[in-house]
Amino acid sequence: MIAVSCRCAAPRTVAENSIGQAFVCKTCGTTTRLTCAERLKAGSGDGDFDAALTIIFGPDRIGERIQLGGIPDIQIGKSPDRTLCLNAPAVSRAHARLVRVDFGPSRWRIVDQRSTNGIFVNERRIAEHTLQEGDVVYIGNYVLQFCNAVSREASQRQPQVGPEFGAVPSFEVAFKIASA
Ligand SMILES: [Zn+2]
Repeated sequence: MIAVSCRCAAPRTVAENSIGQAFVCKTCGTTTRLTCAERLKAGSGDGDFDAALTIIFGPDRIGERIQLGGIPDIQIGKSPDRTLCLNAPAVSRAHARLVRVDFGPSRWRIVDQRSTNGIFVNERRIAEHTLQEGDVVYIGNYVLQFCNAVSREASQRQPQVGPEFGAVPSFEVAFKIASA
């Protein structure tokens, strides 16, 4: 099981095979979807999903918080086989991808996959852009806001723990091995 916290701090465990499915917090009503293009090992948690895109405008799913995890690129598009499916007319089948740049806090770069309608960040069209806290991303009919402070939000509510006790994403070691 993967143990994560809602933005309201309510704990939640998610089965490894339920990555990509939405769940609704019983405490605050926020819909959260863990998104990851690889199979995470049991024991993964908040540190593995410390960045998020929240849908702030769109044809559906407004308010949904999409937490980003894993090492491989997260594919975004209308096609149901994308890691993150955004099903709306102005979204291309393979519209964009998110590329991990760093860990703890996570940094992600968004890259346009030669989509028909492009990607806009803070109302400027971009080919690629490293996302910053608060960036507003336009993908077709959806507007999403980036937050890379999910783990900081959580740590402000919970007792401080040193990096050796879980603040570092558990897959950071695997990433170093993979890129060595
Ligand atoms: Zn909640």
